[in-house]
Amino acid sequence: MSGAVTLRGISKSYGETLAVSELDLSVEQGEIVALIGPSGCGKSTLLRLVAGLERPDAGTVAVGDRLVAGEGQGWVPPEQRRVGMVFQEHALFPHLTVGDNIRFGLDRQPRTEQEARVLEVLELVHLPQVVDRYPHELSGGEQQRVALARALAPRPEVVLLDEPFSSLDESLRARVRADTVTALRATGTTALLVTHDQTEALSIGDHVGVMRAGVIEQWGRPVEVFERPVSRFVASFMGDADFLPASLVDGGLGCELGLVTIRTDVSDAEVVVRPHEVSLRLPAAGITGAPAVVDRVEYQGPFILHTVRLASGRTVRSWQPHSVRYPVGTEVLASIAAGIVPRLLSGDAALADDPT
Ligand code: ADP
Repeated sequence: MSGAVTLRGISKSYGETLAVSELDLSVEQGEIVALIGPSGCGKSTLLRLVAGLERPDAGTVAVGDRLVAGEGQGWVPPEQRRVGMVFQEHALFPHLTVGDNIRFGLDRQPRTEQEARVLEVLELVHLPQVVDRYPHELSGGEQQRVALARALAPRPEVVLLDEPFSSLDESLRARVRADTVTALRATGTTALLVTHDQTEALSIGDHVGVMRAGVIEQWGRPVEVFERPVSRFVASFMGDADFLPASLVDGGLGCELGLVTIRTDVSDAEVVVRPHEVSLRLPAAGITGAPAVVDRVEYQGPFILHTVRLASGRTVRSWQPHSVRYPVGTEVLASIAAGIVPRLLSGDAALADDPT
């Protein structure tokens, strides 16, 4: 597989603000990459550097085999980069029909080929019937799918999507998102998607890049960034997490919820636990766990979030199904759910998993 987008040592500042800092990124042909991070961490700047809407202060950008920006390497302008773009505000030309909006990027092709391609990409996003309509005659979700069709029409090497679903309401967002992924997969188009929605990043991305202050703090498969975060920042940013101190106990390393690992090479660490990893049981013969009292119960729709207070005064959160709903004040036994190997932190960095 060849690289579709390759960034090497990219930096970009705006005055005193370092937006992107010595960043490396390598996106494979046909993959969907989700970039996620707090506001201001440099996600949009990164997309703009790939698009050619910004020039890097240092480093190189390649799209496919072609170097498009870099120190002393020349400069390929945006319209020659074979990069498609979809933004949050869909930015269709209001005075052009859907068909003309899509044709806009195909002006160098013969008219009959343009017509065929317009219909082809509209079929791809399930909207062949809107070809003669104007943008204001479409719903938000339809406009967003047209914007995707327009980006895909010239058969770009890569499509950049900057928070493309965030202006859509939640029920519509899931559908447009699914349609977008289907269309990208069907055409084998490489995509770089910026989002601030963890579920979106984890469900769409073949790889996820978690950004912080101009760098990619963790790059990995969704399961890696969620289950094996490299730092406290990634652990807290990608989902809910509680942190409990751990120390050497009989048989290994333990925290208030019990033995965490049999490894004895670490003496001082913190354990990361997520709400789906904490189990709560009512005290009974044969049930083990840390004594805890239910402090707060929050109905969250699919599950019920219980916050329990441990003997130390620390609290941990636990998701429970609807069949379980312990009232505030209930005495329970809390433990780490079976089969879970929690992540360990030393300071702000994760400890490598025990090699044994
Ligand atoms: P994100 O997309 O993650 O929210 P951005 O890439 O938009 O972050 O911004 C990164 C940093 O660069 C922020 O501190 C932002 O204020 C700054 N920045 C972005 N664009 C400009 C600009 N055109 N002029 C000045 N500062 C900018």
